[in-house]
Amino acid sequence: MTYKKYGQTGKMVSAVGFGAMRFEHPEQVEESAETVLHAFEKGINYFDTAPGYFKGKSEEAVGLAVKEMKKRGGPFYLSTKSMKKKASDLRRDLEKSLERLGVDSIDFFHCWYILSVEDWESRKTGGAVDEIMRAKEEGLIKHAAFSTHMPGDDIMKVLDEDIFEGVTLGYSVINFPYREAGLKAAAKKDMGVVVMNPLAGGVIPRNPESFSFIKRKPEQSVVEAALHFLFSHDEITMPLVGFRNKSDVDDAVRALETFQPYQTGEIEVIKERVEEEFNNLCTTCRYCDVCPVDIDVWRFMETANLLYLKGEESLTERLRGHWGTSIDELDRCIQCGDCEAACTQHIPILDRFEELKEAIRKENA
Ligand code: SF4
Ligand code: SF4
Repeated sequence: MTYKKYGQTGKMVSAVGFGAMRFEHPEQVEESAETVLHAFEKGINYFDTAPGYFKGKSEEAVGLAVKEMKKRGGPFYLSTKSMKKKASDLRRDLEKSLERLGVDSIDFFHCWYILSVEDWESRKTGGAVDEIMRAKEEGLIKHAAFSTHMPGDDIMKVLDEDIFEGVTLGYSVINFPYREAGLKAAAKKDMGVVVMNPLAGGVIPRNPESFSFIKRKPEQSVVEAALHFLFSHDEITMPLVGFRNKSDVDDAVRALETFQPYQTGEIEVIKERVEEEFNNLCTTCRYCDVCPVDIDVWRFMETANLLYLKGEESLTERLRGHWGTSIDELDRCIQCGDCEAACTQHIPILDRFEELKEAIRKENA
């Protein structure tokens, strides 16, 4: 395992992090804890969880593994978060996380999922940011960080306040042209930079042909290539991979072992291609789950990805067979725009609804 320094914290963290949000059977806490321990045995020492992942089951699984990791020895670092705006609410989240994880302090505590500059201001006025600093003084938090899917220029506004020691941001081969300004600014400040959604929420592994252009050798898998692409960025401390099981852990560790850096020219070629072909694909992160009339927007946006990816799959069938719905559900949309405002990929969702309707109309003509 390769280890890298996390900003100026003095901590050496593994070059791949464990994202505890994609366990194969999240209800089976013991099985998930085994996956965490397997990663620990392979040298992974950064474990990222959240109170909201699987309604607390993720923190419980990591907490169960923590008991064993303490016995086995060796450093490990826990990351968790709260998106609460009010100080008292954030404190409650923190106390619950400490209890579930079975530790006295959180190594990296995140002001979670800052959506916009306005949202950032509301975290400050609500008291959440001051509460994080207070908990740090009390020793309940060792290092404060924030997580966001904002575009690069907005990330820089938060960075420039010099409050945090690290940032966790959405970054992958699909969206890097739109995010790299924030990445570079964080690295310039010598902050830890953790990248979430490195495989674009599974879009890359599910569409190997569309993403074959990121491969450098025929025998490489697109997952390996996507991780190698991220490892090639000196600014990135680690990608956070959402592991389902032990086999996923082994694949990521192998990708690190076979890593050869992409050259600047190769990255430029990929960038041009992404800008031409993959502007704002849905990563099924589900942050758009804010619809006042209960439309599951991500189901339609994931299906709309097929409009931009090579493949023969029927849109109607994708909606019916995979998501159990039909395009008629969109008739209930009142066009409030809430889903667009929440979208981490900044997708023009309402326009894409129209594209999808038109394509399905043609498909069934
Ligand atoms: S624009 Fe339509 S789909 Fe989006 S949140 Fe509003 S009602 Fe729901
Ligand atoms: S539409 Fe946007 S917010 Fe919703 S799942 Fe897709 S990327 Fe995430």
